[in-house]
Amino acid sequence: MNHPFEDETFSSWLYRLAVYNKLPKLGVGALNDLFLYSVSEGSFDADFDSGCTFSAFCRELSLCSLELYDYFFRPMSRWVIPKFFRRSYCYECFCDQIPQSGHPAMLRKWAVTYHTVCLRHQTLLYDADYGVGKNLAVGSKLFSFHNEVLHGRESFRISREEYDAAFSVQCLLIQSEMYNVSSETLNPNIFFAFCRFFIEIMLYPDFGFCSRLHLRARSVQSDLLFWKRLRLGPYLASIQQRHSAILLLGWVLGVIDSDKTMLNIDHAGTFFDLGRASNVIESSGVNRLLFTFSRHLQQRGIKDFISGFCSKNDCARG
Ligand SMILES: [Zn+2]
Repeated sequence: MNHPFEDETFSSWLYRLAVYNKLPKLGVGALNDLFLYSVSEGSFDADFDSGCTFSAFCRELSLCSLELYDYFFRPMSRWVIPKFFRRSYCYECFCDQIPQSGHPAMLRKWAVTYHTVCLRHQTLLYDADYGVGKNLAVGSKLFSFHNEVLHGRESFRISREEYDAAFSVQCLLIQSEMYNVSSETLNPNIFFAFCRFFIEIMLYPDFGFCSRLHLRARSVQSDLLFWKRLRLGPYLASIQQRHSAILLLGWVLGVIDSDKTMLNIDHAGTFFDLGRASNVIESSGVNRLLFTFSRHLQQRGIKDFISGFCSKNDCARG
């Protein structure tokens, strides 16, 4: 039971063991105190920053080997949802874990912005309320949330085709991101940068193409600066909105077929139309950046999308 689940986060493993008194020098009370103290000290991420004081200190107290510690923090996607915005999970994974360990465990991949389906259960992830990340016991908070709030509600079933489509886009993104990490080139990975920008445009808070597809609570910060809002969009979006953006990206990249019912694009049937319908921002800075992408990327879907996007407003202005 002391072994982590595959892809489990460091804090999830720590908490699970502390609850069952499996850590000789660290009880659950002391662990909670340490976490609260660290929160009061400032921003840190116990699961994606191996150098933060909380995690380094807990490693010593839990007698976690350096090898295991490195395993928890091994390289993965760098586009991770910031801690206080993280709220996606797979309920069926929890149900598999609990008979084995007595406690639900959090997985690292649920924090990746473009990860919207569970590879094990081939389902769409669920969202809890915001703010669950301020707890140390995230797994049990999410599990209770699901049982108390979502119990009995219809789940968001997706077809096999939709799962396969999202899975191929996820694989493409992680491969292009990892290639960028390993090549150690000074040139930014233009392809991945475009994909990230595309998802941000689709999920622009409140008005983006995918932000309008599924209902969710409106974001309250109306005075945020444009780029700040753009960067925040994917973190504020619901799992269905992020999933729609992933499927549309797959369509534009030519990774998946244009199954129009799956893509929710009744009023934007071509790449050009999608680009035009997606321009809710009307910023010459965004157009200039997209033109740069267009010069470096050859896929027809990308070029048409960018032409449509930039056709909406006069690019020469501003
Ligand atoms: Zn699952």
